Amino acid sequence: MCGIIGYIGERQAPDILIDGLQKLEYRGYDSAGIAVFDHNSIKVIKTEGKVSALAKKKAAADLQEVHCGIGHTRWATHGEPSDINAHPHSVGRVTLVHNGIIENYAELGERYHPSPLSRTDTEIAAAVINACYHGDAVSAIFEAVNMFHGAYALCIMFEDQPDTVYAIRKSSPLIVAVGENETFLASDIPAILSHTKDYYLPEKGELAILTKQGVRFVGATGESIEKELKTADWDESAARKNGYDHYMLKEIFEQPAVIEQTILRYKNDFTIFENEDFDFEVKGNIHIVACGSAYHAGLMGKYAIEKLARVPVLVHIASEFRYDNPILHKDDLVIAISQSGETADTLAAVRLAKEHNVRTLGIVNVRGSSLSRLADHTLYTLAGPEIAVATTKAYLCQVCLLQLLAVRMAGKGLTMQEYKDMMVAFEALPAQIEQALSFCDDAKALAEKFKNAEHIFFMGRGQDSCLAMEASLKLKEISYIHSEAYAAGELKHGTISLITENTPIISIMTDRNRLPKTASNLKETGARGALITAVTYSDVRADAYTDEQISIPVMNEMTAPLIAAVKLQLLAYYVALSKGCDIDQPRNLAKSVTVE
Ligand code: GLU
Repeated sequence: MCGIIGYIGERQAPDILIDGLQKLEYRGYDSAGIAVFDHNSIKVIKTEGKVSALAKKKAAADLQEVHCGIGHTRWATHGEPSDINAHPHSVGRVTLVHNGIIENYAELGERYHPSPLSRTDTEIAAAVINACYHGDAVSAIFEAVNMFHGAYALCIMFEDQPDTVYAIRKSSPLIVAVGENETFLASDIPAILSHTKDYYLPEKGELAILTKQGVRFVGATGESIEKELKTADWDESAARKNGYDHYMLKEIFEQPAVIEQTILRYKNDFTIFENEDFDFEVKGNIHIVACGSAYHAGLMGKYAIEKLARVPVLVHIASEFRYDNPILHKDDLVIAISQSGETADTLAAVRLAKEHNVRTLGIVNVRGSSLSRLADHTLYTLAGPEIAVATTKAYLCQVCLLQLLAVRMAGKGLTMQEYKDMMVAFEALPAQIEQALSFCDDAKALAEKFKNAEHIFFMGRGQDSCLAMEASLKLKEISYIHSEAYAAGELKHGTISLITENTPIISIMTDRNRLPKTASNLKETGARGALITAVTYSDVRADAYTDEQISIPVMNEMTAPLIAAVKLQLLAYYVALSKGCDIDQPRNLAKSVTVE
């Protein structure tokens, strides 16, 4: 995730670019840069650090009459934050900024740009376009993007075309906005809202060609594409939420994109974590340490790693870990999970592991955070900044990353068919999540049934019981309805005494082998008057023992809980909404828990 901006018009481009980048900084801020046409040649100014550091560099650069340029505020995926890895990147006659990941950059690099200056996939993209460019920008860009696997939004300038900026996207966001004798590019609307409210949304395969007179869109053979001009009717604050009422909903809707980014970052056509300089073989035990939702993600990870890789995994609540005098051996691996990378208890757990000379692996969302600096190696969830206190997209990325890790650790322990099935399952996930988002209306209606409940019970077996814990936490933290999660078989060992007429039970059932057992448990609660909702596959006929069914597609059983998770996030959101709760900032909570 990062922010990109472009401008061509009559005003001073650098000021507009810097102002836009400041508004996009929430998307990433480890380095920033601009490229502008200055006296018919391209001048690049870039730096590690925030946009404020870039603004100082720009002020010192003595730019005169400059009316065209592109800019970027980075959230590094390939190559550490540094001056050299900052965007824009130039190769030959091409200068560009990029949001996304070019998955096959290594192989393209070998062919088109064997000695790059930076460690980014972006520089390779510039090199490929440059190699294809013989004076016709449209065909060069299409020829190049046809070779790109992955996600991109690209703003491109050619040295010999000082009055034009090109832009194209696939999966990563990009808008093209138009004003009076000026046109803009931006990752999202807030960046341009103070200049204009009129914008286009380019789709995959539509190349935007911007001049100060306006924009035209062309397809791969140069044919013109007519697009609908949209008008933003948001104020600045609504715009920061991209029109959603809450950050939480916005972040739920970002999940197809961020899951895709996370998968693309680490999975090539047939390999996982190929470019990570880390030995994934573990001879001892794996200890996962985390707090809150990250702990729940860890439980899902345990299930996946033990099932696929057959390595024993112990999941510890980080705040307990170091007081438990944990049994650690030098062959063990400690995996610490934290969205912010600043969770005090998790950091303390990693320090303890290091004192015992145990290898540590961080799973972190915020680059440069304390955990990423402390752990021996870090894998990043590419969820982008998460603002709502209740995590959604970071949790989902953590689970997905742990499942990728499980497949990597399993290695040859899986048959070719099992391995292929998992690779196909990962590839299918973003579209399946996208489809799950259409559950909104149903979730809204269902929320009415739950909003007056005093207690809601979640249950499941296997990894469904781990998801039940997260779904229960999501609901209670934002709606303040008391909720508990149980392994389905545990109910009759105590909790069933709490089930009375109309007590809501939400049962997650993605494990087909255990489905008949869970069905029996549900029947037991139904006999005591429970109001039962089952989250299960569309081909499961649960109506004989449930009141409601939330359906998920028939799909891989390992990744199915992620789809169930998205639907339950939506349900929690709409329950909280119908109760009028402060969804983004629930009482007593903080986003990043930096105290013990
Ligand atoms: N992959 C590019 C980089 O690491 C772009 C990152 C992004 O979209 O945040 O520089």
